[in-house]
Amino acid sequence: MNPVIDYLRISLIDRCNFQCQYCMPEGEELASLQQQEMLTNAELLTLLQAVFIPCGFTRFRLTGGEPLLRSGVVEIVRSIAAFPETQDLSMTTNAFLLANLAQSLHEAGLRRINISLDSLEPETFDRIIGRRGRSRWQQVWNGIQAAYQVGFNPLKLNVVVIPGINDHEVLNLAALSLDQEWHVRFIEFMPIGNAALFDQKGWVDSEFLRQQIRERWGLTEGQVKGNGPADVFRIPGAKGTLGFISQMSECFCDRCNRMRLSADGWLRPCLLNETAQLNLKAMLRANVPLEEIRIQVRELMSAKPDINFKMRESGATGAYARTMSQIGG
Ligand code: SAM
Ligand code: SF4
Repeated sequence: MNPVIDYLRISLIDRCNFQCQYCMPEGEELASLQQQEMLTNAELLTLLQAVFIPCGFTRFRLTGGEPLLRSGVVEIVRSIAAFPETQDLSMTTNAFLLANLAQSLHEAGLRRINISLDSLEPETFDRIIGRRGRSRWQQVWNGIQAAYQVGFNPLKLNVVVIPGINDHEVLNLAALSLDQEWHVRFIEFMPIGNAALFDQKGWVDSEFLRQQIRERWGLTEGQVKGNGPADVFRIPGAKGTLGFISQMSECFCDRCNRMRLSADGWLRPCLLNETAQLNLKAMLRANVPLEEIRIQVRELMSAKPDINFKMRESGATGAYARTMSQIGG
């Protein structure tokens, strides 16, 4: 059965204050969008209220680039959380700016947050995020603690595992789920963003990680709200869970219920397939009636199961030119 398409990932901005090796290769200048190329806050909210919600979307994730760099991010959260149809509103962030914003985001109605944390070693962390000078690890850690203290639940930590860079930390990262209700998710490295690093390092199969964890503590099946494409497990007796997002070893295209709206207003039904997409910003600015935009969005939604099927058949793991930060990972 085709999944119900009700989940929109919204990239608020394509820029980022990190340059993670797996996402934005060092030395490559990614052209950032100019302010006037991005959807304004008002355009974004109009699209949500007058197009996406009437088309059946009820679950929204704010991402980027780094969403906390978007000016007015708290107001955007407040407005989306206030739509009566919103059933779920979440964010994916690198947490560098979170310590000061966690409280206001929570008060504005954000309840779920995913934070990228690829290492517990400040030096390794700084190498991965490609930033020299004063270490950024502690500030990210403070952001995580602040989010936990203001009550973000579930609080998920995303780890992209790269052989020879952070795969030696898998057990230490998994141990974060033992004493606190933190949900650590291991993501298989995809050839998106930095295909050269991918060719050089390869990726680690989730099952291999599970074996290491099983040998150390054992593993049972688990559950967590909004687990999306993750397979969820729990170390016996742990407060939190472990998730495995295995898009390389285990294609989940046929379960995919998400569409993506980029910061410059392109609606895409698939991360890896650009054969079908709509430029909603251009339509809005050309005063195309909202009813017509809704019709086109519904057509794209009905094309998605076919796109999912084609991606599944093709393996869906080929290298891809655009980065996660540009598409809204
Ligand atoms: N800046 C925020 C962050 O890092 O959490 C949000 C945007 S980031 C593009 C969203 C997610 O994409 C992160 O969890 C990141 O780890 C993941 N990601 C980026 N490039 C990836 C790649 N090549 N393979 C797997 N995951 C990737
Ligand atoms: Fe920035 Fe997130 Fe990409 Fe890292 S993964 S460079 S934090 S957008």
